[in-house]
Amino acid sequence: MQFPEYRPRRVRRTENLRRMVRETQLAVDDFIYPLFVCPGKKVRKPVGSMPGVFQLSVDEVVTEAKKAADAGVPALILFGIPTKKDAVGSEAWDDNGVVQKACKEIKKARPELVVVIDACFCEYTSHGHCGVLTEAGEVDNDATLDNLGRAARSYARAGCDIVAPSGMMDGMVGFIRDSLDEEGFDQVAILAYSAKYASGYYGPFREAAESAPQFGDRKAYQMDPANAMEAIREVSLDVEEGADMIMVKPALAYLDVIARVREEFELPLAAYNVSGEYAMLKAAGERGWIDYDRVMMETLTGIKRAGADMILTYHALEAAAILAKR
Ligand SMILES: [Zn+2]
Repeated sequence: MQFPEYRPRRVRRTENLRRMVRETQLAVDDFIYPLFVCPGKKVRKPVGSMPGVFQLSVDEVVTEAKKAADAGVPALILFGIPTKKDAVGSEAWDDNGVVQKACKEIKKARPELVVVIDACFCEYTSHGHCGVLTEAGEVDNDATLDNLGRAARSYARAGCDIVAPSGMMDGMVGFIRDSLDEEGFDQVAILAYSAKYASGYYGPFREAAESAPQFGDRKAYQMDPANAMEAIREVSLDVEEGADMIMVKPALAYLDVIARVREEFELPLAAYNVSGEYAMLKAAGERGWIDYDRVMMETLTGIKRAGADMILTYHALEAAAILAKR
């Protein structure tokens, strides 16, 4: 049927009509809320380039976790800022490290919250790279895997539900799976940062996590923004190695990659709505250049429409509040 008999506008006339034909339903269930854990007590240090985001000491992380649970957000992901950085990032696998402590306290306060712990070393190393360096200054893949195994087991001992390796090391998912299983943690899941791009959108995160590389960049291990077929290969490897969930990061400039991965794979798919995406909306919103709430909801809906089942987002609590009023 063609115009004038068929008129698509008929089902857009009223809000209830639009509700009936809406294809994508954003829900609080979709959100994973990222939190930065730092040493100390009663620390709530604002991240300048990410208004509304803070470095939080363990007690404050628990307060924030309770807020998330009250808002109906099902899951948190924790990033640690250690007391002391070193060449290998050893505090990442210290059972008394900040993320381990935070995980235990969150589980005590709100056992139903799913705790994901990011497994990487850039926050923990003095040089800011995602693993152990060779003498030539490259990241040593296989030496880093050993440390990832140590970190994953430490996070599992702290009671986390999901370990999320984000360093783009080859073989990281299989190595972590074996390391967890060897210690009896067969119920701890792996959310793999499978297609993680070397992106300029991570800028504000590096301030939040104090993880900027001290020399060079991460292009030798993170993916080239120009590649999409390579993302499919990366995801296939993680699936074969035993990933329970897969991820595309960042989200906004990679919606096509999210859609392709969605089409090719059946595993739950996460997308990371990263710090730079958040910061752009905050900055434009503060200047009155955009309607912040509207653009935030549109962005999150777009990420879900592209195919993400879960969205890691700093907007989680703000978006949850808007969804609760609908
Ligand atoms: Zn890293």
